This record gives sequence, C-alpha cells and structure tokens, in this order.
Amino acid sequence: MFLKRIELNGFKSFCNKKEIIINKGITGVVGPNGSGKSNIADAMRWVLGEQSSKNLRGTSMQDVIFNGTQTRSKKGYCEVALIFDNSDMRIKSEYTEIAVRRKMYRSGESEYSINNTNCRLKDILDLFRDTGIGKEGYSIIGQGKIDEILTSKATDRRKVFEEAAGIMKYRVRKEEAERN
Ligand code: ATP
Ligand code: MG
Repeated sequence: MFLKRIELNGFKSFCNKKEIIINKGITGVVGPNGSGKSNIADAMRWVLGEQSSKNLRGTSMQDVIFNGTQTRSKKGYCEVALIFDNSDMRIKSEYTEIAVRRKMYRSGESEYSINNTNCRLKDILDLFRDTGIGKEGYSIIGQGKIDEILTSKATDRRKVFEEAAGIMKYRVRKEEAERN
C-alpha cells in the first residue's frame, strides 16, 4: 500500500484547496525556505491524529488553520485528506482506496472520517495500527526522532520494536481491558 494523494484545504500555508499527487517510488519535495515543505509532513501527522500543537510546530492547535496574509483573510477551518492505495489489501478492508480525513474548526472541534463516513479518532488509529503508518508508526520520522529513540528508557524503546513487529495492538487491547 502507498500514499497516492494528499488533499489540503486551509491547512497552514495552503490557503486554497490543493492536491498533491504522489507516484509509487521515491518522491522528493523541493522548494525555497518557508514554501511549505514541512507543512506537508505536519499535515500527514495531523490527519493521523497528532494532538500536540508543539509537534506541529505551533503554540496552539488553531495555528494549523490558514492565518491570513496581507491580501487574504484567514480561514475558519482546515481540512486534510490522505488517500492510500490499498490494492494489496494491507489494510483489512473491502476498499482498494482508503481516504482518511480530518477537519478542524477554529473552535478546536475536529471531525474525522474514513471513506467519507464520520468516525472517531480511535477508528483511524485502529485502522493503521501495526501497519507502520500512523503518527507513531515510524513511517514519519521527524527531526530529532532518532536521537529520542537512542536516548529513551528501555521500556519506551521496547514500544518502538513492538510497533514495528506488529504486536502493539495486543498491548493496546490489554491496557484497554485493564482500564474497563
Ligand atoms: P524550510 O526549507 O526552511 O524548512 P519549508 O518549505 O519546510 O521551509 P514550512 O516550515 O513548511 O517551510 O512553511 C513555513 C511557512 O508556513 C511560513 O512561511 C509560515 O508563515 C507558513 N505558515 C505556517 N502556519 C501558517 C498558518 N496557520 N497560516 C498561514 N501560513 C502559515
Ligand atoms: Mg522545512
């Protein structure tokens, strides 16, 4: 499976609706400083459930909504969709294309959907758990992440291997069962 398209609308510097088409293989994103390259990586992590504004390089979550320029007024919401090719059925679903979407208003309220059906964030996390995709799935390696893994506590480092080995779902289910 692979990410084949990203749709951005009102996310950070992407004021108007924008589609980024990604071909299978290696894709590089080039552009001058401040042109929005890192904002694309932020957008991917945001859809996959990132809840920390600091991890998205902002001070509050509302900082991800287009904030206006001298010539354009700010937006009241932002929306990002990640469209995955699932023709290899890596994600257990009847769909060969999976679109996950997050929309957030200035009030801070977020809406999530999978293939245009509203869902909870938990459903998105469950969908991608142990696939290697996801904000903790190590498919997105942020600056400083390698250092963090190398210097982390043994118990935290173990979780990295559990996620990579595809057994994280059992830990999550055990912890959920213990809470209930
Ligand atoms: P570099 O090459 O320096 O790493 P980059 O291409 O990765 O640059 P980004 O960090 O993705 O650039 O983009 C930064 C730009 O995004 C800045 O110009 C900033 O003003 C703009 N930006 C960030 N948040 C918002 C927002 N909420 N509204 C409008 N613009 C925003
Ligand atoms: Mg950058």
